[in-house]
Amino acid sequence: MNQSSKRVYLDNNATTMLDPKAKELMEPYFCEKYGNPNSLHSFGTETHSAIREAFNHLYEGINAKDEDDIIITSCATESNNWVLKGVYFDVLRLGEKNHIITTDVEHPAVLATCRFLETLGVEVTYLSIGENGTLKAEQVREAITDKTALVSVMWANNETGIIFPIEEIGAICHERGVLFHTDAVQAIGKIPVDVQKANVDFLSFSARKFHGPKGIGGLYIKKGVKLTSLFHGGEHMGGRRSGTLNVPYIVAMGEAMRQACLYLDFESNNVRRLRDKLEDALLEIPDVFVVGDRAVRVPNTILVSIRGVEGEAMLWDLNKNGIACSTGSACASEDLEANPVMSAIGADKELAHTAVRISLSRFTTQEEIDYAITIFKKSIERLRAISSSY
Ligand SMILES: *Cc1c(COP(=O)(O)O)cnc(C)c1O
Repeated sequence: MNQSSKRVYLDNNATTMLDPKAKELMEPYFCEKYGNPNSLHSFGTETHSAIREAFNHLYEGINAKDEDDIIITSCATESNNWVLKGVYFDVLRLGEKNHIITTDVEHPAVLATCRFLETLGVEVTYLSIGENGTLKAEQVREAITDKTALVSVMWANNETGIIFPIEEIGAICHERGVLFHTDAVQAIGKIPVDVQKANVDFLSFSARKFHGPKGIGGLYIKKGVKLTSLFHGGEHMGGRRSGTLNVPYIVAMGEAMRQACLYLDFESNNVRRLRDKLEDALLEIPDVFVVGDRAVRVPNTILVSIRGVEGEAMLWDLNKNGIACSTGSACASEDLEANPVMSAIGADKELAHTAVRISLSRFTTQEEIDYAITIFKKSIERLRAISSSY
């Protein structure tokens, strides 16, 4: 079979298309308005106002206050690393506190950094998500000790789309005087994110997950919260992360955040409706399971398990028909290990290898979903017919 000429992108939790409006807005900042925003001449000042506006969109997008900090980083991986290693440098290293609490389904940028900190003597508690893929705020409360310096829990899980009780966890951390970090990469643009309501000290985001450019993200730091500088140098970003600002990308990220917020209702109505249509169609097929209750998931994600069909085989078949999904996090999909979240919820080994993650965006059309339903049905039938385990 030849590669299909039709292409349908259903892997938006891995990365998203740049919003054409963001692209248009960033374009003049390459060859026309290329000044360094810190320069005092007109080339500098004409970029300065664009940066200011972009920052305003970022602040509004997460309901930060003016006195809070949002630091531009290269990606959420950087933001996550910075928080964890920064808290090590500022607090854990000194010995009075030695404990971090996180979950066993965080992004590798958090998990691998925690493993690294363990080699330096930090104790890490990895809270388990239950069979239904959720975390209870009480688990965090019970795990906090006098030695706990930081809690790091993602806002929504990248594999399942399941939303964690961030506001409750934030309240518990606040009450116990423990710093609270959340990786909000998969929440922004999908559900409302409010750093004040959630009592967040640190929040990571990545532009490319909400239709901004790749290679840029940010870290929100609540006013007055200490975090040691990442890059020493000039006075950029209040001296916390020196280096000349990437003006076009910041402009595009600001616009992408603005658009993402404008489309939140659309996401929760239209995107959800398309997602549910596809999910309902899949669930009509026998021995097909979806992880997590719809009510607690972001509107765009389905982690589906199809008994008897190896995830990789499914992807290959879908790809031949032009449909892009994944077997789980692109950040960990080089190896053929079982989907980590499927394992975490206690799925048996065979089932954990059948996971396929489908993630829509506001650019996904009804026609694409109808096509996907047809292809999924055909592929499942074909692959089950040749499966040794079904
Ligand atoms: C994609 C993703 C990241 C990493 O984002 P980068 O910008 O590639 O560093 C971090 N956390 C979550 C939950 C993600 O989905």
